[in-house]
Amino acid sequence: MWRGLSGADVLRIWEAGHGQHSGARALLVLAAAAPTAAPEALERLPLGARDRALLTIRAATLGERLNAFADCPACAAALEFPIDVDALLTGRGPDEAVEPLAIRAGGYHLTVRPPDSRDLAAAERCADAATAEALLFAACVTATGEDGHSIPVAALPDMARAAASDAILALDPLTDVSFDVACPGCGFGWSLALDVPALLWDEIGHHASRLVGEVALLARAYGWSERDILEMSPTRRQSYLAWAG
Ligand SMILES: [Zn+2]
Repeated sequence: MWRGLSGADVLRIWEAGHGQHSGARALLVLAAAAPTAAPEALERLPLGARDRALLTIRAATLGERLNAFADCPACAAALEFPIDVDALLTGRGPDEAVEPLAIRAGGYHLTVRPPDSRDLAAAERCADAATAEALLFAACVTATGEDGHSIPVAALPDMARAAASDAILALDPLTDVSFDVACPGCGFGWSLALDVPALLWDEIGHHASRLVGEVALLARAYGWSERDILEMSPTRRQSYLAWAG
């Protein structure tokens, strides 16, 4: 379903995503990699499934090797950690929207579903992270008591909230991707959460800058159009660059 991004795709996404929230940028990538998919189907992908799609697209565009970057919280060293993309891609999880699941926790009947890009877009408009988190939770969880009366999810006890979060994670496992990492310098260990859209956006930025530079050099040297240059395979572009002096 997902194809790798062409040079023209990368530049178009980079331009259109400028100044956008992370969720909107991720949708631009999905739409470019699945040109025949209905926008609504892309928006309704659970966020973990979305991230697996982004990693698939990323691998098809830039290769299998992927590193996460982080500053050590203890000594502030700039660190780089290799990510096992294969393990993430072969992990279980949905490939499309999932039906809500009914569970019981304590005296509560809960209906849960994983958040998707539409929920995220609403959360990204919130003023702070706590409000955004509460909004996401309320969008994905409904609760009734033993007597069948609906209960505001904000009023649920911690135990019921935790059961709902666990159920969401089981429905869409890549919702939370973290790795145990350690700083080789000072030995400090922590759990590093992988923000797939942010990581991919950084790479798209670097890739786009490099492409713009290549187009500028080749256009100046040979008078070719941007479209002609971007349609070349990277191998052919590199060969002409070597002669462009
Ligand atoms: Zn350190």
